[in-house]
Amino acid sequence: MREFLKSVNRIVVKIGTSSLIHPSGKINFSGIDQLAFVLTDLRNQGKEIILVTSGAIGVGMDKLKIPERPQEIPVQQAVAAVGQLELMNIYNQRFLVYSQQTAQVLLTRDVVDFPQSRTNVINTLEQMISMGIIPVINENDTVAIDELEHTRKFGDNDELSAIVAQLMNADLLIMLSDIDGFYSDNPSKNKHAILYSTISTINQTLMEQAGGEGSRFGTGGMVSKLKAAQRVLAADSAMVLANGKPPRIIFDILDGVEVGTLFKGEQHE
Ligand code: ADP
Repeated sequence: MREFLKSVNRIVVKIGTSSLIHPSGKINFSGIDQLAFVLTDLRNQGKEIILVTSGAIGVGMDKLKIPERPQEIPVQQAVAAVGQLELMNIYNQRFLVYSQQTAQVLLTRDVVDFPQSRTNVINTLEQMISMGIIPVINENDTVAIDELEHTRKFGDNDELSAIVAQLMNADLLIMLSDIDGFYSDNPSKNKHAILYSTISTINQTLMEQAGGEGSRFGTGGMVSKLKAAQRVLAADSAMVLANGKPPRIIFDILDGVEVGTLFKGEQHE
């Protein structure tokens, strides 16, 4: 059933903060090293790779030695700006070990609403891909739209990664989190929760199992992952939600191994 994953070509990989930052607040260098190794290897196999990364606030907190996540939006924005620079510095170093060029792309979600911006983004990303570059995308945390948007912006890049996958007609979105996939309930609270292997439609029951909107304010949580999946399914594409510790799991996913939760449209049957 997962045979089709062996032949996907254009892949968007989204990595969450939990895979980039240790619970201690320190940067997970081995995870980032392995991600650079895996993505470069896929590039060398001829696949087209786009990375969507979170972690700017976490890296900024580590750099500025701020122990608690700040509450005020402008403080979060300032910390994110410091962290973004450092995060890109780390990616650049790690990818260069494998002679892989990367580029920073900062986007806002409303890019899809403005035809000219949308075309510009697509053209730039297409150009980078044809030049063998791996674009590293994050949300532009400095650009304000309104207060609500701000709070959503710091959720996570789950929906942004789905927007990018849609814009770029990706064959697959790989969403790496700190959990093995989507469960019938939050497994950290319910030990009887069951892992879904495949999901083909996002319904109300699943949304409720994700813990409800806003239940994990400040991080994406599962609701935003389901929303991303919804977008991917609407575009007749596919998404795998899997545990990004370690990032080598990407090789298994692309080998068609039954890991994580596959969200797929019926045409992949
Ligand atoms: P990331 O930072 O990797 O994007 P999040 O912390 O935002 O990840 O979301 C993952 C967390 O969502 C899991 O660690 C788990 O505690 C929680 N969660 C809530 N409901 C579910 C569910 N139904 N299935 C899996 N995880 C869930």
